Amino acid sequence: MRSFSARIHDPEQPKPLGCPACLDLAMREGQPAFIVATSPDDLLYRCDYCQTWWTANSRFRNPATVADAQARFPEQRIASSPAVDDAQLSEAIVLFTGWGATPEPIDDVARVAARFPKEFPALEPVLAAFVRGSTSIVFHEVAPSDDGLLGRVRARLRLIMPRLCDDALDALTWRWPFVVPQTSSF
Ligand SMILES: [Zn+2]
Repeated sequence: MRSFSARIHDPEQPKPLGCPACLDLAMREGQPAFIVATSPDDLLYRCDYCQTWWTANSRFRNPATVADAQARFPEQRIASSPAVDDAQLSEAIVLFTGWGATPEPIDDVARVAARFPKEFPALEPVLAAFVRGSTSIVFHEVAPSDDGLLGRVRARLRLIMPRLCDDALDALTWRWPFVVPQTSSF
């Protein structure tokens, strides 16, 4: 039997389950999202961000491997996790926003569909979750409106979306001031 410390240092081992959105920011992001219940004790959840499956009540913090989720929910056709490739997701975010190509954010999902026609059905809901999640950062968390504002937005995005590449973080940071009001109620 492997010890916990051996797992940490073994590059053959899969990455730890879960991401900050489902592990630490459940109240904010509503993750993991509820999928189905087959009994009062058998609840299935999945994180829209990292695609990790969770079983039982998410308050008990039970991220599950694909095999465990499959065994417990055979009807759900649980095949893989993550379902969406990190690099594709990052590229999709860049395309969606128009980062590097348009003067202002365009929110054009058709560009993503054209680039990834086969993957689009699985990619689109995760893309939407990340775009929505980027606007969950509200102004008072990153205030004041000084030269460091966008740097603080980007740092927050990196914290809650560790899978994204630099281009995608730049794209969401660029889009943020166009869609989030920079006023404080205080
Ligand atoms: Zn997650």
